[in-house]
Order: sequence, then structure tokens, then C-alpha cells
Amino acid sequence: MIVVMRSAATKEQVDAVVARIEEAGLKAHVSVGELRTVVGVIGDDRTKEQLRGMLEAMEGVEKVVKVLQPYKLVSREFQPEDTVVEVGGVRIGGPEAVVVIAGPCSVEGRDQVLSVARAVKAAGARMLRGGAFKPRTSPYSFQGLEEEGLRLLAEAREATGLPVVTEAMDRRQLDLVVQYADMVQIGARNMQNYTLLREVGRVRKPVLLKRGPAATLEETLLAAEYILSEGNTQVVLCERGVRGFDNHTRYLLDIGAVVVLKQLTHLPVIVDPSQAAGKRAYVPGLARAAIAAGADGLIVEVHPDPERALSDGPQQLRPAEFTHLMRQVWAIAATLGRAPASLTAV
Ligand code: PEP
Ligand code: MN
Repeated sequence: MIVVMRSAATKEQVDAVVARIEEAGLKAHVSVGELRTVVGVIGDDRTKEQLRGMLEAMEGVEKVVKVLQPYKLVSREFQPEDTVVEVGGVRIGGPEAVVVIAGPCSVEGRDQVLSVARAVKAAGARMLRGGAFKPRTSPYSFQGLEEEGLRLLAEAREATGLPVVTEAMDRRQLDLVVQYADMVQIGARNMQNYTLLREVGRVRKPVLLKRGPAATLEETLLAAEYILSEGNTQVVLCERGVRGFDNHTRYLLDIGAVVVLKQLTHLPVIVDPSQAAGKRAYVPGLARAAIAAGADGLIVEVHPDPERALSDGPQQLRPAEFTHLMRQVWAIAATLGRAPASLTAV
């Protein structure tokens, strides 16, 4: 349920509405828009129904609306304006900017991560990616450099000014990742790990939440709802492909998901063409399509020597290929009135 305040409502009137909601044992979530403030009411349905008439009669209240979807805080009904997620000075979301995150699948060593960071920055990337804890299908595959990988990412941030995103797969890793990274990635395989979602909802770091390979959009939005319901509103959604019936690409990139999510939620939506493609030759086409469809950004895997990569070698672009792709991406973004986000942190 949301309480829509009149545009002329005073702060005292909003505070009184919040107090009434909290007195009833419910949670209030205040969202101050350009035109008006809306107060989300979270909690038991029956209590909300009992409170409804009382809230409608309060000073400054225009109307009380029931949110029909199972997800509330993430819905456009709840907050019509785009959320802008700020990661170390880079702003993701909103109608103007496009943010490209790039870097290796896994951090493998100092030279590797530093050289990629410099190359992707020069090509227009605004954030660095790189896995230190890797979710591998086989327990015998390279599992990541762990804390050493996080240290190297932090070093690359110092050297380039690019904020860093990296994955945490469980609580222990989350504590470490939060110490080093600017944004926490929750990987596709953990999208429905509800205890981890709650944990990351309690930290004060932005979250990159990837869609599970078999998750519906409603399940994806409810996963984000877990994070917001714990108080962390800084969430970026990422479409990275779902299981399809054809194996020419590794996953089936759901471009429609970008279009639909942009309608259903105010959260920024980015696309990972690399995990979806599985092969480097397919990455540029998927990346261009994502930007044309209205994605707020991309996360792309780039490696200085992909033949020797310890994970996902076949899908990682070489720096020169990435640079070429970025020129095309900026051209497509420009036709939509969008431009690369600025990098204020440097
Ligand atoms: C990755 O970003 O390297 C990764 C493992 O992504 P996903 O969780 O989307 O498979
Ligand atoms: Mn990867």
C-alpha cells in the first residue's frame, strides 16, 4: 500500500503519516519525488487494510493506493522516478547516462588486472569488474584469488580511479568484499539465496543483482525486494541470459526483459552480454542490442590474453576489440540522447 501525499503537504504532515504507520507496527518507506512525496507501507495485509481509512483522513494525504504486484518497494507505482545508484562517484540510472563496467572474468594477477583496468578506462568504461570469489560449475576449476584478488582490485582502483564491483557468494565473503569493493555483485546462481539477499540488504554498499538463469522477472524483482526491504535501496539489476533450448549462445539473452523491467521498476537495468554470448564473436552484437533496447549500461568481460584466461576465456574480449565496441555503443547511445556517465571520482 502506498500513501500519496498532496504536492503541498508539509514535512510535519508526512512525519505524522509515518508515525501513524509505525504505531500500527508497520514499516514506512518515504520517497521524496520532484512533485510529491509517497510513503510506502510495508507489513501485514490485514493491519494495512485496517489503517487505510485512517490514513486517507489525515491532513496532507491525497490518496491511498494498493500496490497490486507482489513486489512493492521496487515497483514504478511505488516510485515513479528512476533510482540513480551512486558507486564511488559514478551514477548508474536515470535517462541520460550509460555506464559501462568492464574487466576480466577473474582477477588473475597484478599485471593482468592493472593493464585491463587502464585499457577499459581509456575506452570509456567507468567501473572495473573482476571476480575474486568465483562461482564455478566444477569444484576442480579455478576458484579465484580470494582476498588477494580483492587487494589487487583495490590497487587497480587506486591506479585508475575506477570504482570496483566484485562478487560475494556467502556471508564470510560479503564481509571481506564490503571492505575492499565499491559495489557487491550477487551472481546469477545466488539470486534466490534469500539469506544472502537479506545480508546484502543490511550493508551500506550498492548491489549489482544478476538475474538467475531460470528466474522469471517477477522472481528477479522479488529478489531485489528482499534487498530493499532491509533498507538498502542502491540496487542495479542485470540481465545476463536465461537457459534456452539452443546452445549456440551460452545463455539466451532476454532483451525483452530490459524493456519490461524498465517499465515495472525504477531500479537501473544493465546487461551482461559476455555471460550470455559465451563466445567473443557474439558479444558486440548483444551489447549493441542491449543499449538500443534501453539498458542503463553494460558489464563486459575483457582480458589482455583470453587464450590463457583461468575462467571464461572464450567469451572475453581483447582490449582492442572492447575499444572498437565502445565506439559503437556510444554512437547508439547518442541516438537515444544518452552519453557516457562522467567519472567524477578521478
Ligand atoms: C561473472 O560475472 O563472471 C559471472 C559468473 O556472472 P553470472 O553470475 O551472471 O554467471
Ligand atoms: Mn565470467
